[in-house]
Amino acid sequence: MDSSAVRAAMVRKLQAQGISHPAVIAAMLAVERHRFVDSALVNQAYEDTSLPIGQGQTISKPNVVARMVELLCQSSPQPLGRVLEIGTGCGYQAAVLSRVAREVYSVERIRALHDKARDNLRALRVPNLHLIFGDGMVGFAQGAPYAGIIAAAGGNDLPAAWIDQLAVGGRLVAPAVTAQGRQNLVVVDKTARGIVRTELEAVHFVPLKSGIA
Ligand code: SAH
Repeated sequence: MDSSAVRAAMVRKLQAQGISHPAVIAAMLAVERHRFVDSALVNQAYEDTSLPIGQGQTISKPNVVARMVELLCQSSPQPLGRVLEIGTGCGYQAAVLSRVAREVYSVERIRALHDKARDNLRALRVPNLHLIFGDGMVGFAQGAPYAGIIAAAGGNDLPAAWIDQLAVGGRLVAPAVTAQGRQNLVVVDKTARGIVRTELEAVHFVPLKSGIA
């Protein structure tokens, strides 16, 4: 499948929706999303929709991936240093992150998806991306501190370990449930003077769960 034209069309839509960071645009143009979905869904790979990836989980919509990665990129000069992703899923967003950050650690709690991501990513040979099977609620201390942390699953609150493992000057981008019971995108900046939390638009992510499966 020569997908570069459909991918370019997808990126034009992302730009019309407000995505403008050059590194994010380059990454969204480069990573072949159709390689991360089942063969029956390949035709829909470049539509702005989330798609099932098995185990009741979904690959996020391209505009959600681009929006979250852009929020990370805006927090520091390029390239980002070490980044932690919670929820590898099929590995698509991890591949995007690997193009904007020096080192990416991506944690997945479902063994079958961790294995699927490894299969999807094998041919791409991404030396700066490390896949970890485990519970991302505790972060991944071995790679800390992180310039950026991004979660693809939403819980009631942000685990303290994520904030702890963020570098000073670092940024966390994650969905979290608000006092009104809605799921919102949340940005947490760790500054020398403390934590700054910003609530953004409503989002729909799969639940953050503890333990492994
Ligand atoms: N970024 C992924 C999106 C996958 S959906 C992609 O591009 O495909 C979110 C993923 O988060 C699911 O695979 C789910 O199993 C995982 N998840 C949920 N809670 C988790 C936890 N505590 N630790 C690690 N992964 C978790």
